[in-house]
Amino acid sequence: MNITILSLGRILNRVFPADSFFLLLLVLFSVGPARPSMAGQTGEDDFARSRREMVEKDLRGRGIKDRKVLEAMALVPRHLFITERQRPLAYEDRPLPIGEDQTISQPYIVALMTELLELKGGEKVLEVGTGSGYQAAVLSHLAKEVYTIEIIPSLAERARETLARIGYANVWVKTGDGFFGWEEKGPFEAILVTASAEKIPEPLWRQLREEGRLVMPLGGERKRQKLVRVRKRGGRRHVEDITGVIFVPMTGAVQSEAR
Ligand code: SAM
Repeated sequence: MNITILSLGRILNRVFPADSFFLLLLVLFSVGPARPSMAGQTGEDDFARSRREMVEKDLRGRGIKDRKVLEAMALVPRHLFITERQRPLAYEDRPLPIGEDQTISQPYIVALMTELLELKGGEKVLEVGTGSGYQAAVLSHLAKEVYTIEIIPSLAERARETLARIGYANVWVKTGDGFFGWEEKGPFEAILVTASAEKIPEPLWRQLREEGRLVMPLGGERKRQKLVRVRKRGGRRHVEDITGVIFVPMTGAVQSEAR
C-alpha cells in the first residue's frame, strides 16, 4: 500500500510541481470516506440533521412555540422507535406503521399534544397508548415521571425495551387497558390519550389532579375526531376544541361502554 502511494507520488511529482502535488494529497485525505446518502440514511449525524430540519420546518414553522418542547423534539431519536425499513422516513412529518395495525403519531401532532399539556418539569404524567414509546420519550424530557399504558402486549414489551436501551429512566410502561388509568400512581398533573374515544373515560378524569390538563382525541369515526384539552377547575370540566385529527380508536373497556 505504502509502496503504491510512494510510486504514485513519484509519478505525480513529475507531472505536477511539488506544491500542487502536496495540495492534491491534502485534498484527497481531507475529503475522507463518503457520507451515506440521505436516501439510505444510516449515519447518526444525518439523522440529527434531519431531526433539526424537521423541528424548524414542521414544528416551529407550523406554530409550535414552547422552547422546551422544541428542544425535546430535537433530542429524541425517532428513528430508534421504528423498524429499520422505515428509518429513512423517520423525520418526515407523518405517522408510520409500528406493527399490530398501529402507528407512531406524526411529529407535529406529538409536539402539539405535548405543548398543550403545559409541562413545567416537576409533573407526573400519564399517557394512554404507549405504541412505540416515542411520545413517552418526549414527555420524559419535560416532566418528572411518565407512566404509560399499552393494551397490546407485544408493543408494550418493545417500547419498554427501546426506552431502556436508549436510557429513559423516568418512564414506566404498563401492559393493560388504559381506560382504567394507573390508580396507584395517580393523581396526575397531566394525562395524554393517543387513541380516540367517544368520551373521556371516567377513571382517567378521576385520576386527573385539580388544575390538571387532559389532552385527547374525541370521536368514534376515524374521519370525525377533534383534539381537545380539558382542564379540571373546581372539579369541573373546561373544554377547549383544538383541531381536527385522525387517530386509531381506543380499544378495550371503552368500547363496551360506548355500546
Ligand atoms: N403514542 C404512541 C407513540 O408514540 O408511538 C402512538 C400511539 S398509537 C397512535 C395508539 C396506541 O394506543 C396503540 O398502540 C394502541 O394499541 C393503543 N391503545 C388503544 N386502546 C388502548 C387502551 N384501551 N389502553 C392502552 N392503549 C391503547
